[in-house]
Amino acid sequence: MRRQAFVWVHLLAVIGLWVLAASHASAGHTIESGSCWEGGSHPYLCRNTWVEGQLLKVRLIDEFSSVRPAWYSSAETARSNWTLAAGPQVLSWSPQTNDTWVYLNWGETGNPAALTSTVAGTTFNCPVGGGTCLNTNTAMNIWYSDLFFNDDLFDGWGSALRTNVFAHEIGHALGLFHHAADVLMKSTVDADHLGPTSTDIGPSDPCNGGRGIRCIYNW
Ligand SMILES: [Zn+2]
Repeated sequence: MRRQAFVWVHLLAVIGLWVLAASHASAGHTIESGSCWEGGSHPYLCRNTWVEGQLLKVRLIDEFSSVRPAWYSSAETARSNWTLAAGPQVLSWSPQTNDTWVYLNWGETGNPAALTSTVAGTTFNCPVGGGTCLNTNTAMNIWYSDLFFNDDLFDGWGSALRTNVFAHEIGHALGLFHHAADVLMKSTVDADHLGPTSTDIGPSDPCNGGRGIRCIYNW
């Protein structure tokens, strides 16, 4: 079956972002006054092992390549592009001291249900304390993330589109929501974005002029 070039990456999150934008017009990628370092205000967005001023060590756990080895190089490119970009994030396939875990899982249309025929990937973030894992751009202190990738779409694509979806979903796991601009975190797939753009990273003065990764982790 021929697939459309433009596919919703994460349909539920589009709704979540739209609601958020209505109440926080300047929020952009992240929640205003809700990042790790901004105090105990709610909603709150962080990763469980974050320590101010230290690198954010992220362990990627490969749960897909045993059934789809061809995807691995795309995931590795996404990992590398995130690690090479500015910001605190250091992503590795191997355990790191004080790391926070992101599972990369094989999926197909309907499994999990969030992967409809036009959704290529989805990210469930799971809160510290064991509450419900959500794929709805909801702020939380993220304990671990479960990312799923749709083989009904991936198997007909080249590596660039797969890399785009891997990098995009990793962005959700790091705490980014959707962005309206033509960047990695826009809500549709785009082979031109194989890693985070400067908008996705944000300015070095956290949250002053943009709300990217640096804003969340005060980097
Ligand atoms: Zn998304």
